[in-house]
Amino acid sequence: MALIVAKFGGTSVADTERIEAAAAKVMREVKAGHKVVVVVSAMSGVTNQLVGHCDAISKVYDLREYDVVVSSGEQATAGLMAMALQEVGVQARSWLGWQIPIHTNDMHGKARVIDVDADELHKRLDAGEVIVVPGFQGVTKENRIATLGRGGSDTTAVALAAALAADRCDIYTDVNGVYTADPRIVEKAQKIDKVSYEEMMELASLGTKVLQIRSVEIAMNKEVPVQVLSSFEDTIGSNLPGTLVTREEDIMEKQTVSGVACSRDDAKITVLDVPDRPGLAAKLFTPLADAAINIDMIVQNVSSDGQGTDMTFTVSRGESTRALEVIGNLEEFKDASLLTADNVAKISVVGIGMVSHHGVASKMFATLAEKGINIQVISTSEIKISVLVDEEYAELAVRALHEAYGLSQEAA
Ligand code: ADP
Ligand code: ASP
Ligand code: MG
Repeated sequence: MALIVAKFGGTSVADTERIEAAAAKVMREVKAGHKVVVVVSAMSGVTNQLVGHCDAISKVYDLREYDVVVSSGEQATAGLMAMALQEVGVQARSWLGWQIPIHTNDMHGKARVIDVDADELHKRLDAGEVIVVPGFQGVTKENRIATLGRGGSDTTAVALAAALAADRCDIYTDVNGVYTADPRIVEKAQKIDKVSYEEMMELASLGTKVLQIRSVEIAMNKEVPVQVLSSFEDTIGSNLPGTLVTREEDIMEKQTVSGVACSRDDAKITVLDVPDRPGLAAKLFTPLADAAINIDMIVQNVSSDGQGTDMTFTVSRGESTRALEVIGNLEEFKDASLLTADNVAKISVVGIGMVSHHGVASKMFATLAEKGINIQVISTSEIKISVLVDEEYAELAVRALHEAYGLSQEAA
């Protein structure tokens, strides 16, 4: 008998029939003797619609109220899921984020889970109840509802699994696992059986949205085995049909390159003619960090005349206007010229085997050159190489790299 957290994403609860299909899977797990906590997303499209309503009312809305609005999508699905389970004879009850409670910090709109009170949940599970929890939401110290950022239901599921010391966290979605590239872009992408937490962290942070990055971070820290699987196939998590995200030690074959990721969420900002003297980078990036704006890639060149240099960096597109505002208010940069570009894509190759192989970067650059794709910015870590290219070439770049690293499935 295992304790399983099963999360169903938006397309897996898109309408009442899909909710019933998901409930049937939960019932199969319960019949097999497992204890189950179900986490649900809003029905697909609902969160976007709710965000649209906020945008329509105000350009700079109060994030506390945004959280009240957007968290409602998950609440509706949770009640419906509990009803669907009861309909098939499963003892089920929904518990909202504040009722459990799932405590978060007060970064409204992208809050982080601080802790989850698991005692009451254990009691209810022991009494034979299936617990249904709306994903994406928690409660702050001030007793306000907070949401965990887009895709945050994954994080609710993994945080619950960690707090309950669950045996596994199943993430049901519309693909049957993690692929070597987004199967919507690369037809020949292959399903990966096992992927390490480290690789999945990189993939998730580089645009592979099948899991929210924060969920992988918690899974890695707490060693929660996570499985990505399809809710559209006639199987259940306990049959282990999906991709297992697990410890590097549990993976026999370490690929040099495991996957290619693509992100279109970045904006490029260049500050021209920054005086080339100590402390200027801190003067630029500290206020941005204080404004909770994440900086990703950074390039700064040495100035040829020792006077001024250009500084280029990327931020998420949704935060670029705010970033420009912050820079515009800084005394040191008030006369600096700023260039911004939204039409960029970040393409990355990821693999733990990269640590012990060379030539991965040169292959990437040669492949892109062959396709005539210009590289604007490069950044690397031990297990990934990312480049920023013109967005127009994003899919071409992903397909070419997927092929170049031998990841494409042979035609049957
Ligand atoms: P959910 O609504 O269930 O949370 P998401 O849309 O967040 O689902 O995530 C699933 C989607 O992630 C898939 O439909 C797929 O297009 C996309 N995706 C991107 N990259 C990958 C990848 N490497 N492997 C699998 N899916 C990927
Ligand atoms: N419904 C939220 C979103 O669309 C959270 C989630 O589904 O994970 O971002
Ligand atoms: Mg998702």
